[in-house]
Amino acid sequence: MRIKRLKLTGFKSFVEPAELRIEPGLTGVVGPNGCGKSNLLEAIRWVMGESSPKSMRSGGMEDVIFAGTTTRPPRDFAEVVLLAEAAGLHGGDNDSELEVVRRIERGAGSAYRVNGRDVRAKDVALVFADAATGAHSPALVSQGKIAAVIAAKPAERRMMLEEAAGIAGLHVRRKDAEQKLRATEANLARLEDLMSQLD
Ligand code: ATP
Repeated sequence: MRIKRLKLTGFKSFVEPAELRIEPGLTGVVGPNGCGKSNLLEAIRWVMGESSPKSMRSGGMEDVIFAGTTTRPPRDFAEVVLLAEAAGLHGGDNDSELEVVRRIERGAGSAYRVNGRDVRAKDVALVFADAATGAHSPALVSQGKIAAVIAAKPAERRMMLEEAAGIAGLHVRRKDAEQKLRATEANLARLEDLMSQLD
């Protein structure tokens, strides 16, 4: 998956709508301290379904909404739109685009849309996991990340490799299938129980 564009509105320090074109290849973000470099990377993670406020350097998820300054009032919502090439994804042809939108409103939580359709957070995470990326993708390298990779435990490195290989989504599906299997086994046991009472 190649991210082509990112649109931010009311997300952290990006109070005015901002649109960024991301060119093919490696992209680095440079700028003075406090200009919003980390906020930008967090916006990508957030639209990909990040659910931990801590990894957004926030106390609660609503803290990603522009909080206001001495001269500007706070906003009521934050929205991030990610546009990517969807080649090969879910049978998409080479020209098809994937548009993922996440929006949060004060007091109303987050809502997601994929290509105009309302979806669950879980669906968004699966779309990215199948494309070997996601909110925790090693392709998103934040400050201090290189040192963290070097210091990572073998199990953590394995997770990074699984994500890079695009099999992380299969783990989620396996967990879902195991839950369904356990529920079916419990139903069967109950059925056998009832049948033995009828005999
Ligand atoms: P550094 O190079 O020092 O790590 P940076 O370029 O990565 O900085 P960020 O950490 O992305 O900068 O941005 C910090 C700025 O974002 C701060 O000025 C902070 O006040 C602002 N900010 C963060 N969250 C919000 C919010 N919810 N509302 C308004 N501004 C915010």
